[in-house]
Order: sequence, then C-alpha cells, then structure tokens
Amino acid sequence: MIPFFDYRPGHRAARDRIDAAIREVLDSGRLILGPQVAAFEREFAAFCGASEAVGVASGTDALALALRALEVGAGDEVITVANAGVPPVAAIRSLGAIPRFVDVDPDTLLIDAAALEAVVGDRTRCIVPVHLYGRAVPMAGVLQFAERHGLTVVEDCAQGHGAADAGRSVGSIGAIGCFSFYPTKNLGAYGDGGACVTSNGELAERLRQLRMYGFDERRHSRIEGLNSRLDELQAAILRVLLTELSSSVAERRRLAGLYHAALAGTGQALAPPADATAHAYHLFVVRVRERERYVAALDAEGIGHGIHYAEPVHEMDAYRRFDWARGSLPVTERACREVLSLPLYPGLAEDQVTRVARCVAAVR
Ligand SMILES: *Cc1c(COP(=O)(O)O)cnc(C)c1O
Repeated sequence: MIPFFDYRPGHRAARDRIDAAIREVLDSGRLILGPQVAAFEREFAAFCGASEAVGVASGTDALALALRALEVGAGDEVITVANAGVPPVAAIRSLGAIPRFVDVDPDTLLIDAAALEAVVGDRTRCIVPVHLYGRAVPMAGVLQFAERHGLTVVEDCAQGHGAADAGRSVGSIGAIGCFSFYPTKNLGAYGDGGACVTSNGELAERLRQLRMYGFDERRHSRIEGLNSRLDELQAAILRVLLTELSSSVAERRRLAGLYHAALAGTGQALAPPADATAHAYHLFVVRVRERERYVAALDAEGIGHGIHYAEPVHEMDAYRRFDWARGSLPVTERACREVLSLPLYPGLAEDQVTRVARCVAAVR
C-alpha cells in the first residue's frame, strides 16, 4: 500500500524537536497569542521575504481577513479561478463580495492573465491568483493588469510554500499573501492554521486587529473584527517544521523529477516550469483522458490518489447563481475532468515513486 499522503515519514527527523516544542508550550501556561506565535510570525515572514506575518486560524480565514483588511465588502467583485477548490470563493463570499471567475492557462492550469480583460468591471476590487499545485503564477501579467485597472492582488499561497516567481517568494509579490498550514500542505501543522504575509505595516496592523475583534491594546474594538487566531501549540510545531521547509521542498522537487523522468514520453504529467524554483510540488498532477481507468489501476495496486479538483466551483449548487454557466470556462472545465494527483511527500521512497509511475504509464 502507498498512501496518497502521510506526514509521518517526513516528520521523523524532527520528531524529538516537535515533542520538546509541544512540552515547552504545555509547561509555559500560555496557549494563545504568546511568544511562539510572535516568533513564528517573524521567522515565517523572513522565509517569505516579507516584513510581517500575521498568524490566523486557517488559510480560508487568511484570505477572508486579507480581503477584509483591504476593505472589500458586499457587492464588490473579486476575480479568481474556479479550478482551485472552494476556499478562495468561500472567503470572497464571507464578505458578501461577488466572485468573478477567470479561465486558466491550458499548460499550467494557473490563472490566465490574458483572460482578465473579459471579466474586469466597474466594481472589481481585487484579483486572487492561486499558486495551484505549488507552482508559482507568473505574476508579471497579473500585476500589470492590476495596476492598469487599480486592483489589489491577494495571493492564495495555500499550496505554494517554497515556490518563487522570477526569484521572488510567493506571498511577497501581491499586497498580501495568504497561507494555510492545514496538515497536508507543504508546511503543515498538527491541526488548522494559516497566515497573512505582507510588507505593508498598516495592513499588518489591521490584520492583527481583525483577527481579534478589531481590538487595540486596550481591548477597545476600533474596527469590526472576529476571532481567528493561530495558537501557541501549532506555532511552536510550525517553528520546528519551518527549519525543515527548504529541504522538504527540495525533496518534493527531487521526487517530482523522478516522476517526470519515469513518465517522459507519455504526455501524462503537467510539464515542469523551465525555472525549477517556480514549483514547490505541493501536488504532482497528471492529466489523462478516461480518468476512471487510471483510478481503477491505482486502486487495484493499493496506490492512493487524489483529484484537485473534480468539480469547478462555478458549477457547484452554492455558486452557480453568479452568472457562470457550464461552458463559460472551457479550459477549467476540461481540466477538472482530467487531473489526477499522485502520491508526493517527503519520506516517499524512490521505489514507491517508480511503482506509481509504472502503474500510471501502463494504462493505455
Ligand atoms: C488548502 C487551501 C486553502 C484553504 O486553507 P485551509 O487552511 O484549509 O482553510 C485555500 N486555498 C487553496 C488553494 C488551498 O489548497
């Protein structure tokens, strides 16, 4: 059996330090917004090449709070993609804002900057590009478009920890970068967690207030906020795992390289970027017709797999009403029928990658 995901082999080397960090927090008497969160925020901001990070309760909250900090509100429009799952759309809707879906590039499955013109309108405020599968969106086109139309860019980096576009770490390129520390992510906690990263001190200050009822130092609500905090236990664990993040991303790249070599000539794998640093390989994705035959072959060999994502968000019952009929995002819709994610995580053995690739390549 090869599971689709398992954090345990990748955490083995750090396990003693994780246990010690947990013990230290339990013994400290401080569980919420203490020294661990503050230290993690400094260390994670530095990792991203930004000046500040604000720890929050999840990646979805990070996106919602980022949009809120930018004063996006009811009726405002936010452009994003429909092939990256529900979270960015749920965040947009939590403010009463309206998602405007843009199609993706057929080769990368990332936001297609050339298609933005067709969806921008008078009420558009922001663009939320998603660094899907861990591959950095080529940001130049998105930033130029945003500047021309007076829009703010909020990066969804939930899958992108460790990726860079043209030498700039994801999360440090737009106004705010939003990360998730859900256990499966490249930097995963032992529960939920997230962060907003920014180099704008004013936005960081507003995000710190928003995550706790809009409080200032005197617990006076200056603005309307809510409760969305990263806790000390998760922050202490994340500090240990952050010291391993560069090497675990390097390990993901190495394993992805083995997949690419083993699948060369099949046309199944999404092509890798020319610049290796652009991809942090949160997921290794192949694109195949008659996907159910591949699923059956993997199941027969006890190999785990995932689909990210099977249903485009604009076709889901909850979001259909935003004017987007089936057929309006042809590249997205086709990709959702064809993508298949293979096991990829630190600690996955080379011979396991070989077995998975052989199984996939044999389906004809
Ligand atoms: C995981 C994920 C999120 C949300 O993160 P949570 O911590 O699960 O709320 C947002 N966007 C993308 C693309 C994700 O993969």
